[in-house]
Formats: sequence, structure tokens, C-alpha cells
Amino acid sequence: MFGLMMDTPLLISSIARHADRRFGDQEIVSFTIDNPRHRYTYRDAFARARKLANALAQAGLKEGDRVATLAWNDYRHFELYYGVSGSGLVCHTINPRLFADQLVFIINDAADKFLFLDPVFVPVVEAILPRLDSAPSFVILTDDEHMPETSFDAVSYEAFIADASEEFEWPEIDEKSASALCYTSGTTGNPKGVLYSHRSTVLHSLGVSLPDVFDLCATEVVMPIVPMFHVNAWGIPYATALTGSKLVFPGPKMGDPAVLQALIEEEGVTTSAGVPTVWQGLLAYLDATGKRIDSVKSFIGGGSAVPYSLMQAYEERYGVNLVHAWGMSETSPLGTMFHTSPALEKAPAEVQVAARASQGAPPFGVELRIVDEDGTELPHDDDAVGALQIRGPWIASGYFGGGGEGSFHDGWFDTGDVAAISPLGYMRIADRSKDLIKSGGEWISSIELENIAVGHPGVKQAAVIAMPDEKWQERPLLVIVREDAGDATSAPVTATELLGYFDGKVASWWIPDAVAFVDAIPLTATGKISKLDLRKQLGAGDLTVER
Ligand code: AMP
Repeated sequence: MFGLMMDTPLLISSIARHADRRFGDQEIVSFTIDNPRHRYTYRDAFARARKLANALAQAGLKEGDRVATLAWNDYRHFELYYGVSGSGLVCHTINPRLFADQLVFIINDAADKFLFLDPVFVPVVEAILPRLDSAPSFVILTDDEHMPETSFDAVSYEAFIADASEEFEWPEIDEKSASALCYTSGTTGNPKGVLYSHRSTVLHSLGVSLPDVFDLCATEVVMPIVPMFHVNAWGIPYATALTGSKLVFPGPKMGDPAVLQALIEEEGVTTSAGVPTVWQGLLAYLDATGKRIDSVKSFIGGGSAVPYSLMQAYEERYGVNLVHAWGMSETSPLGTMFHTSPALEKAPAEVQVAARASQGAPPFGVELRIVDEDGTELPHDDDAVGALQIRGPWIASGYFGGGGEGSFHDGWFDTGDVAAISPLGYMRIADRSKDLIKSGGEWISSIELENIAVGHPGVKQAAVIAMPDEKWQERPLLVIVREDAGDATSAPVTATELLGYFDGKVASWWIPDAVAFVDAIPLTATGKISKLDLRKQLGAGDLTVER
């Protein structure tokens, strides 16, 4: 017997309609290239999103067509999120940091009909245009007055929507329809497209808004420092509209701590999400200038492991709770986030610290398991380490156009991460499976060694990779960028000092054998350490190894 309740579809336009009615006066503030404080309201944003929807319909686009964006976080990108998806089209966010070959591949693969781009990305498009199967229509995210020179036909966004009506009935499409597309920048093979649905997006927005997750409500002020071109800025532009939080967009200034601090202070930001390098950069800036971020209650850190020493620094010096989260493009992205529980509060201090340092626990909607090489489930005893698998209504069930079949088994998605789960349910990522170091048949976690290394005051950045070894097959090599000497009163940290720093912190056979000091560590398009490139540098003899 079915229940007798309405089948109202869970649509992105339902978030827009709710925010428009309920939180119409709430503010959206953006830092843009032509205006360091653009401000308007949700009401203004959705009126313009409806104009955009009309303009796209007049251009002849049909349900399911892909509309691409190549843009930083600001209000026009927000309008695209709603105007495109709300009208039944698929918002394909493109990461401008991808290599030209990858950009060509994904634009051809997605068969984008339109491409909306920030003026700064005109050269990126010019470089790849000759290699596109068919050129999309180009709209530049500015007004006629600020239009850049282009070698291709383009109109300004303001001109594109100018004459369109604000009246638009959001269509009642199937909630399982595709809403957005984001390609993962895999280190091998071509990028794979993750195709979110309206239903997955609305459920994910509800999930992340919960108190034990991002804790959003109408009195919060949220600044996403995670890009709208990568996993929908962790779903924040949807969740803030759903809960009525004020939104602050840092535009092209996500890597500029001075602008971030000013936005936080002036707009009263209470929470924000970013990768650890963002938090490291902001901390260094605050320490150096004595500036404060007193409005902030919590920061969310994820995308790569957040060192516990960084959490402590924020807590002790700025009263900010830096909370650890884990996820990936295929998981919308929220997989786990740390929150406490009565059981944890009664546990011994070291268990509490380990839980806070871990990647956290899954919220309602996400299930996790770890399995061994035969697919047998492993116990949640904090000791057994296995392949991390995940399932739930906002987890991918396949890729756009196929591929990656090996990652989907029995209704579970194999994340490619290896992890342990504690008896209280906290998940600890040991590594990407391909980054684990296998020494004498036993695994060593590169992430754990990196977290220890960055706790040393002389270390700015650390990466650990496997180094071939005759006796043990592989041994850990520590690759280090030293902290700037500053006042030059302290001598640069040495290899001996660093290796000694691990004594007593890990089993002796985990301690790296050697250190390579470098000026910079190569990063991927999503700002993560590229261990593939480091391994190539090691293989080519480009790293000077000190023992
Ligand atoms: P992406 O799909 O590009 O967002 O990358 C997802 C991958 O980033 C995950 O599979 C993890 O390997 C890594 N990752 C994300 N968050 C964390 C975290 N908190 N700690 C360690 N690794 C993380």
C-alpha cells in the first residue's frame, strides 16, 4: 500500500521559489573584477535567473542540453546555477585550471551548447577553440561597457538577459533529471563526468544544512572559498538559499588572504569552507598582521587532509572551530564530517583527539563500509584498513557517457581511498589507494606522515611519496617546502632534524628514510598535491635526496 502524500518533485527551482518568497531580502555580496562589493538580494538574483531562463529558452535550448560555465564564485555564476538547472538544462561547470587537452575533451564530451565565461578566461577559450568539435555560443560574464576584445563572437551577459522577461514558470520536470555536470580531473585517463540530479542536489542541500554538518540557518553568513566550478562549491549555493543564509562570494580572490579577511570582518562571515591550503594561507596572514576574524564560529576544511596542528592553531589563536570533512566529486561532495556525540565526550582524551583529527562520520543519507581485496567487509575497530566504499541518494551511480565501471559494485561506489573506521563511527583516510607506501609488505600512510611533518615550525608544505628500495620494495620519502626564514634568526630546518621529529610519533619503521627539499610542490587542477608529478620528478632524478 502506498502512502497518501503528495509527490511534489525535489527540484532546484523549488529551492529558488522558497528562497524568493521566504528570504527575498537576504543579501548576496560578491567581490567581482569590476566591483569589490557588489550587493543585491535573493529576490534580485532569482528575478535575473528567470530572465536568463527566458533568454536560454529563446535561444532554442531544450531540456537536458548542456550549458557550460568557466567562472569564479560570484552573483552571475549563482544566477547561472538556478537559471540553467531550474529551466531543465544541465549546468556544466568547468575548472579553468585544467590543461588544454582536458578542456577540449570535456567540452566535446559534454557537447555544450553555450559557454558563459568570465572575461579573464577569454585567452583560455581562444587557445582551445580550434580544437572543439562544434563551437558553443559564447556569453561573457560582464556588461557591454566592460566587454574584452575577443577573436570569437560573443555577447555580454547583461546584454544577453537585458530584454528577457522576469516572468518565467519553472517547469515541473522529473526530480531524477540531470541538473549539473562536473568532470573529475583524474590523474590517469580522461576526466569523467559526474552528473548530479535535482533530487540528489536537494537531498544533499538538506543533508549539509543540518546542525551537525554545516549548521546553516537564516542568521548565518556563509562564504564559500571552494570554487563553484568544482563540485558546486560543496553544494553551498543551494544550501544557503534553502536555509536563507547570507552569501558572500570572494570572486577571483579565493587565494588572497587580505581580501578574505576583509570580507569576513566587513560582512560578518560566520562560517566558510575551503581546502587546507586556503586555511594555511589565511592563518599566516592573520599571524603576520595581527588582524582578527572574530565573527567566525567555524571553518570547514576538506578536499585533502586537514592537519590537526592547523585545527589547534585556529582554536587557540582565533577561537575558530576548524572542522574536518571528506568527500569527492562523485559524492556531491559530502561524505563525512566531524561532529561530537555523548559517547565521544565520555571517551578518553586521546580518542577524542583522534576523532577530531579524523575525516568525521557520515550524516543521514550516507553509508560507508571498508572491504578487503576480496570484497569482504572489515570491522570498524579503527585498526583494519580497507577500500572505502559509499552509497546513498547523493552518490554517483555511474559516469556521464559511461566509463569507470570497475568503481561501481553491488550498489556501492568504490572511492579509491583506503580508510579505517572507529567503533564510534569516525572514518580516517589512510591514503588514496595508489599513494599508499608498501614497505616489506606492510602499508604506510603517506597522509599521516604529512600531517606530522607540517606540525614542524620549519615546514611550510609536505608530501610523502614512495621511493623504490631494494630491501623493502618501497620506503617513504619526505618532500618538503621550508617555511620562509622570515627574520633569519632561525636556521632552515635540516633533514636530520626533520627525520628526528618523527621519533615517538609513529612506529619506527614508518619514519621516512630521506628528505628532498624543494621550492614548490606541484599541484593538480583542483589544488591538491600531485604525487604523480612528484613520482615522475623522483624517477627522472630531479629531486635531491638527503638522508
Ligand atoms: P575530488 O573528487 O577532486 O574532490 O577529490 C576527492 C578526493 O580528495 C578523495 O577521494 C580523497 O582522496 C581526497 N580528499 C577529500 N577530502 C579529504 C580529506 N578531508 N582528507 C583526505 N583526503 C581527502
